[in-house]
Amino acid sequence: STRLDAGIEGIVADAPAASAADEARRTVDDAMLEELEELLITADMGVETATRVTANIGDALHGRRLTTREIKEALAREVGRIMEPVARPLPIYPKKPQVVLVVGVNGSGKTTTIGKLASQFKAAGKQVVVAAGDTFRAAAVEQLQVWGERAGVPVLTAPEGSDPASLAFDAMTRAEEIGADLLLIDTAGRLQNRQDLMEELAKIVRVIRKKDPSAPHNTLLVLDATTGQNAVMQVDIFRKIADVSGLVMTKLDGTARGGVLVALADKFGLPIHAIGLGEQIDDLAPFDPQEFARALCG
Ligand code: GDP
Repeated sequence: STRLDAGIEGIVADAPAASAADEARRTVDDAMLEELEELLITADMGVETATRVTANIGDALHGRRLTTREIKEALAREVGRIMEPVARPLPIYPKKPQVVLVVGVNGSGKTTTIGKLASQFKAAGKQVVVAAGDTFRAAAVEQLQVWGERAGVPVLTAPEGSDPASLAFDAMTRAEEIGADLLLIDTAGRLQNRQDLMEELAKIVRVIRKKDPSAPHNTLLVLDATTGQNAVMQVDIFRKIADVSGLVMTKLDGTARGGVLVALADKFGLPIHAIGLGEQIDDLAPFDPQEFARALCG
């Protein structure tokens, strides 16, 4: 993933200097727009989004001679416009328990995100129950138990290899018994066998609906922002196997500047409920589109 700020500085540096005293500027013309489009593609925005963003900048500013700062601002405006509609916190329903199914490939940050969400909702006065639905990975279950302890919420588990749907059913029963506000259900993320995963998730949903036809109320897809354009493919796949209602983007604290978020917002329009900014329990933040746009464009 290319840094946009350095790339834009490069685009302006390509222009012949008018005079030594003059601030470097670059005329917005076809050649400049082509370079910009190329830069956005290498920054993980995807071809379609890069083309659209560049065309909008061309429409608005064609023929103008812009400084680096002005180009960054124009770009940040376009990015902000795309991101604004998808920035929405997880909707909270009066329904008890609100059932949140958490899906995503292994390693994307599901377990960590569930721990962080549990902690946040508990701090907000909600009673939270977590279910360790990835019953095939003992390590995932243990990891979730650690997070449950940190967050101070109960984690329901089942023996290794047992049916995740029956665990989900038990978790619904338990959450109802104790009057929990929120039930967060972790799931397996083995994309190697898509058919199995699809059937497993479908069964979990079927069983949950026996208890509550309106559940699951949210299906959160957790995506690792450092995987770049790969995240686009994951949304495509998970939308086919689950009724994804929103996204959490993790690992935005790293070197990845998150250009792929723009591609995702533009292509799918799914709400981004939160972003992961580290491995600690408090490292989950609401998604702020303007702050994101400024950080991305430099
Ligand atoms: P799962 O397999 O999807 O449940 O993924 P995990 O929750 O186990 O996370 C995989 C790795 O990513 C772990 O090492 C986490 O500490 C790390 N991780 C998760 N979220 C973030 C984040 O927002 N930032 C960073 N830097 N690391 C994260």
